[in-house]
Amino acid sequence: MKIAVLAVQGAFIEHEKKLEVLGAQCIELRKKEDLDAEFDALVLPGGESTVQGKLLRELGMFDILKEKIEDGMPVLATCAGLILLAEHLTNDEHVYFGTLPVSVRRNAYGRQLGSFHTVQEFAGIGKVPMTFIRAPYMEEAGTEVQVLAKVDGHLVAVRYKNQFGMSFHPELDEDSRIHALFLQTVACSMEMKETAMLR
Ligand code: GLN
Repeated sequence: MKIAVLAVQGAFIEHEKKLEVLGAQCIELRKKEDLDAEFDALVLPGGESTVQGKLLRELGMFDILKEKIEDGMPVLATCAGLILLAEHLTNDEHVYFGTLPVSVRRNAYGRQLGSFHTVQEFAGIGKVPMTFIRAPYMEEAGTEVQVLAKVDGHLVAVRYKNQFGMSFHPELDEDSRIHALFLQTVACSMEMKETAMLR
């Protein structure tokens, strides 16, 4: 199983470490040519969404990645990554991939004091540690979006088709269960693809 981690800016190495410990192979996406490699899933890490969005376009990677996501490639998007996926931003006029039907508020907990840690329920897993760093949250989600976690009444983790969007940073805590859940989804999607090809 090969996971491509967007590595133009932000906290990508931490994702790679988690995924590799769980047995996945990671490749880094730094430039357009890296997209020629075959991979089964994508990770959009935290960082600064405006910088990442700008670099994706300048490096000529944006359209190719958008097409892969629209075609159903599994995506794990954390923090800035969630902002890149969102269909709508409530306090910013940008829209990047726009493939996840949610409204996201950037820096929703305030710019300076917006970093905190908590332990909350995550659907299908149980209590998980969550680290928020100048994090966004989701103010609204489409009817087909599955809510995976809430903190103080705000949506902080969702799933829509094969796209997982999270406000917090599961790669920064000891717990690996969210990454394991993601890899399970990737395995399922690979199996379904194979079955479809055999038909
Ligand atoms: N505040 C950042 C943004 O709006 C996201 C922060 C993060 O990824 N930790 O892009």
